[in-house]
Amino acid sequence: MQNNISSIINALGGRDAVQDLLGVGASAISNYLSRGAFPTRAQPILLAALQARGYQVDPQDLTIHGTADTPASEMRVLLIIGGGIAAYKALEVARRLQDHGVSVTGVMTESAQQFITPLSVSALTGNHVYSDLFSLTDEANMGHIQLARETDLVLVVPATANLMARMAHGMADDLATTIMLATTATVAIAPAMNPAMWAHPATQANADLLRQRGAHIMGPATGDTACGEEGAGRMIEPGQIVASAMDLLRPGPRPLAGRHIMVTSGPTIEPIDSVRFIANHSSGKQGHAIARAAAARGAKVTLVSGPVALPDPEGVTVVPVTTAREMLVACEAALPADVAICAAAVADWRVINPVGRKLKKEANGTAGTSTPPPLELTENPDILASLAQHENRPKLVIGFAAETENLADNARNKRTRKQCDWIIANHVDTTSDSNVFGSERNAALWLSEDAEESWPEMPKQELAMQLITKLEEEFTS
Ligand code: C5P
Repeated sequence: MQNNISSIINALGGRDAVQDLLGVGASAISNYLSRGAFPTRAQPILLAALQARGYQVDPQDLTIHGTADTPASEMRVLLIIGGGIAAYKALEVARRLQDHGVSVTGVMTESAQQFITPLSVSALTGNHVYSDLFSLTDEANMGHIQLARETDLVLVVPATANLMARMAHGMADDLATTIMLATTATVAIAPAMNPAMWAHPATQANADLLRQRGAHIMGPATGDTACGEEGAGRMIEPGQIVASAMDLLRPGPRPLAGRHIMVTSGPTIEPIDSVRFIANHSSGKQGHAIARAAAARGAKVTLVSGPVALPDPEGVTVVPVTTAREMLVACEAALPADVAICAAAVADWRVINPVGRKLKKEANGTAGTSTPPPLELTENPDILASLAQHENRPKLVIGFAAETENLADNARNKRTRKQCDWIIANHVDTTSDSNVFGSERNAALWLSEDAEESWPEMPKQELAMQLITKLEEEFTS
């Protein structure tokens, strides 16, 4: 639905046009986008406006199926298909982009044609496919410079190590690389290769170069690859590529693009002896969702995470830690940052002198009569408060407050005590059915120095988007 909303906004001429049409402000549009739904009262207005512009629209959910005549606002993607086994997934990317009302034109490298045929790309996109730099007929149809310019996004799927190297070094030895040099549009690439090739310093240097020049690098994901080896190198899924592409095609400014956002997530684990520890119920789902959402909106994200059973979010630098003290060191090392979001459930106390071996109960008497060893605790550093009071303080420091009672009062006090800018408070109770730990859903109270908002229960990923939309507003104003 999120992407359907973007398509509707695009189809109606952008956010300002939809604001005028519905008589609402910019933040309302941001809320609809993060919630993934327009309010019910807006639906008949949007339906009428879309139909008036010649769109064929499903009256139930406003899905745009086609246009009577192509509106000027239609988004165009130039899909460059590289020569890797993941090339077949480019077909699905093309199909899904068109589901969002995007016009797709395919460009294939010579090696891509070893994996899929120009005919299948052309049949799927309904457009001519380009592959030859020196084709007289293609140049007569649409010259390579025109092809490079008349697009809103150049999307490279899959980006092989070789294609990335040629792009990074400004080569123009085929149509694909010539387009990359000539284009003035946004460029996004989805790498796919063997993990050793991705990890190689040459590929990493090429990726850095491309990033510095403004290319969006989507993934790669970690997992098993077609060559049977495990590690980072697998192309992210077509759905994720399309979601990120739609986000890049979203009209309007991208206020978080290039900003550094640091997120803490998960529990911390504090050792008692060499096998036992103090921990808590945090799953890391909310913190990881925030990191993912921030990266999707173009931010450079560092995720400092305690031990969790979650995959690393794509496009995010993950720093794994175990204890609160390690988390603080990692956070301070990640500075400077524009924003710090502390979603980790940091253990408040640690054992003063953890024993470097397993404590034995027999050491204090025979089994059943032994005296438990005393555990002397000391307070852990408060990471949120440390960042909020740091000499290199991020512009915006945001904390979470998990409370079992007096939610609003405790959250307000916490905000002042820790000197952070915003608090997102949620009710936690491991004994209740609506326990938020490990759950996919969350409801929250957002508060700043002078404002409060109640956020209804929603999936954690949506709550993350809502927070990131709020950040975007903060950096726009
Ligand atoms: O004090 P309390 O644990 O309730 O505060 C919660 C907020 O403070 C969360 O944002 C949490 O990440 C952060 N926190 C921290 N370091 C601690 C304790 C809490 O960063 N030692």
